[in-house]
Amino acid sequence: MNPPSPSALVPRPSACPGLLRIVPARDGGLCRVKLPGGRLTAVQARAVALASERWASGVLELTNRANLQLRGVRPEGAAALVAALQAAGLGPSDPAADDVRNLLLSPAAGRDPQQLRDVRPLAAELLALLEGDRRLHGLSPKFALQLDGGEALARLDHAHDVWLSARAEGYVLGLAGIPLDAPVGLIVPGQEVATVTRLLHRFLDLAGPEQSRMRQLLAQRPVAELLAGLDLLPVPRSPRAAAATELRLGSHLQLQPGHCWIGAQPALGRLPATSLAAVADLAEHHGNGDLHLTPWQGLLLPDVPTDKAQALLTALTTLDLTTDPAAPLARLIACTGSQGCAKGQADTKDNALRLAERLPADLEVHLSGCPRSCALAGQAPHTLLAVAPGRYDLFVRDTTQPGPGRRRATQLSLDEAAAWLARSPSDA
Ligand code: SF4
Repeated sequence: MNPPSPSALVPRPSACPGLLRIVPARDGGLCRVKLPGGRLTAVQARAVALASERWASGVLELTNRANLQLRGVRPEGAAALVAALQAAGLGPSDPAADDVRNLLLSPAAGRDPQQLRDVRPLAAELLALLEGDRRLHGLSPKFALQLDGGEALARLDHAHDVWLSARAEGYVLGLAGIPLDAPVGLIVPGQEVATVTRLLHRFLDLAGPEQSRMRQLLAQRPVAELLAGLDLLPVPRSPRAAAATELRLGSHLQLQPGHCWIGAQPALGRLPATSLAAVADLAEHHGNGDLHLTPWQGLLLPDVPTDKAQALLTALTTLDLTTDPAAPLARLIACTGSQGCAKGQADTKDNALRLAERLPADLEVHLSGCPRSCALAGQAPHTLLAVAPGRYDLFVRDTTQPGPGRRRATQLSLDEAAAWLARSPSDA
């Protein structure tokens, strides 16, 4: 792997962060590492932890796209940090491909008892396409694909520009939505990569400068124009089976007899580097040495023999990772907030920790420092949108409304927000 050119390391304030493009933030440089299918080996995890301690803040963030961020990168350490991450095999095969490695899978892909297909081989082909086809490097860094194998553990509430979802007959294809939406057709079995290739090229043929995302193009052009030349079969009637997001935490039996996965989550998606290194050791000792990041800002350790599950759960709890889906912090998410982001109107991370102590069980709340909603792509049942330090407007989910939903209260203090939520937990 070639080292990054000096120009690749110059921060571009308005750009998305990447591994080769460290973007300045209030708490220092921000480096985002895109992981193939969310997978990180124990060796890579230790390399990330070491790089974070040497050249950054020693704090890592797990993202809602199953990627990893190093915060607080010091300018004088940026080049060494990037080189260390590349040496660990975390960079793209082509530097120009870093931004487009956006393919979401279930963290339990290949192991989920409900899955219709093991999507990992196809995922590897699609990632190779995104990295290897230079024209596709012109896609927006936010343009993203989802590959759904029908797993029970699946994030089905994030809209993706292109999605494939397994059915008994093959993969159905969908655009600008989620695998619960109506697909546009069934892909001829065996033609998945060729079909996605043609579709992405067609998108680039048709999209103008104002249409970097699929929904923007479809607002201007009929879907038939985009699909012209694609060989699609009629959509089968079989629906997508239900998902069960609580499987992201705790111990759950895999397809492979005698083995389970263990899901865990650091508070609000932030993990000290020392804890990541310790989890890497646990993955080697109890599992297969891999960590899978989840799109719920957590981790999943696969292939754990069932007789080792309890010892691993205990060890993860000792590291302050939550493994209980009923724990208050398992249902709270918060963006970086004013601690690390200049746009943040409030310290959402600290406020979320204080709120967690006062919330009723089962309440899902998203604290966002501004309307950009970086920590969640869709609507949460309840959103607290910061309007000033310690002050929030409260929204409840309403998919007929844009943004976080329907505004129900304004300018609440944390105490007032906790009281409102305790009084009206089902008012969504
Ligand atoms: S939602 Fe706003 S405040 Fe929060 S991290 Fe994103 S840009 Fe910053």
